Amino acid sequence: MHSQTTELQCPSCSNKDKFTKSGILNERQRYKCGLCGYHFTVLKAGKQIDQYYVIKALQLYMEGVSYREIERLLGVSHVSVINWVRKYGIKAPQQNEYHPTYKILNHAELAAFMAKPENTKGFGMIITEIGDKYMLIKWERFRH
Ligand SMILES: [Zn+2]
Repeated sequence: MHSQTTELQCPSCSNKDKFTKSGILNERQRYKCGLCGYHFTVLKAGKQIDQYYVIKALQLYMEGVSYREIERLLGVSHVSVINWVRKYGIKAPQQNEYHPTYKILNHAELAAFMAKPENTKGFGMIITEIGDKYMLIKWERFRH
């Protein structure tokens, strides 16, 4: 981690300080420059995937998000996610009364969403960070 930070430099504006991680693409870590907003990727050292994505993937899995959806959201292969679920012995409890829906929002969109009482009344919700955006997972009662 410490060596990675010093090597990072935005190819667009040469900023060396402020970056946010925004997913993994083909084994490459994707970053967003905090100054100019430019996206770029850096080859990951080894095959070791950042623990950040392991935790995020397991978190989403526990929320009922499918392997394929996790792959699409985080940019890590669904095979990796299946392996982590096995490795950590995680069993998602079966539930059929509720099902999760989710939205990916930037900060302004999230603030606008939360400002409307009808969007929050009577729902369970989790907000988690996904790269430079927010993921809002909403639990709704399943209607048969
Ligand atoms: Zn930049």
